[in-house]
Amino acid sequence: MGLRAMIDWQAIDTVFLDMDGTLLDLHFDTYFWVEHVPRRYAEKHGMPLADAKDYVMKRSHSMLGTINWYCIDYWSNELDLDIALLKEEVDHLIAVHPHVTDFLDAVRASERRVVLVTNAHMKSLALKMERTQLGGHFDAMICSHEFGMAKEQPGFWQTLQQREPYDPRRTLLVDDSLAVLRSARDYGLSWLLAVYQPDSTEARRDVGEFDAIESFADIIPQAYLKR
Ligand SMILES: [Mg+2]
Repeated sequence: MGLRAMIDWQAIDTVFLDMDGTLLDLHFDTYFWVEHVPRRYAEKHGMPLADAKDYVMKRSHSMLGTINWYCIDYWSNELDLDIALLKEEVDHLIAVHPHVTDFLDAVRASERRVVLVTNAHMKSLALKMERTQLGGHFDAMICSHEFGMAKEQPGFWQTLQQREPYDPRRTLLVDDSLAVLRSARDYGLSWLLAVYQPDSTEARRDVGEFDAIESFADIIPQAYLKR
């Protein structure tokens, strides 16, 4: 049985979509933080690349799961580097996963609400939308920075109601972060899907207790499944 059969589109009227690793290939972000930032940091501070990699990784791990981890301004300050500018240097690596635009078009044609809900900083969102031209495919785009908390933090999904009212029982969330899926489940979102391969250059991931998609081709709603 394919996932298409496991998603009951008649029971869903809102779709929340994560950006990095879900709609877009996580390879850009991984390469950026594991290779590019340490390289520039090493150059700036005249230190060996291996040491810079170690340092950046330790610093970033200490902020995991918090809004700072996703904050360009925070890291620009902490590392004394222009993180937004560094992203532009490697922006050719920003790529949309296969079947994403077909999926977005089909969901919108079915008259369901499609909302991008991301932990990415506004500057990252702007760069990625400029590079991919995906922006026009959503009814709304929301950065968790607006609320000062990350999607995996308790309270996020409740707070989102003020900006984007939704019925948790009739909402589908697709997100590559298991921590985010768990926090959404705790708030009562009924339809949750993980992503097997957020980074196209890495092996399939363990998706814990969640169902997951190989690609968005798995869940494209049929044209007759209008809301
Ligand atoms: Mg993600």
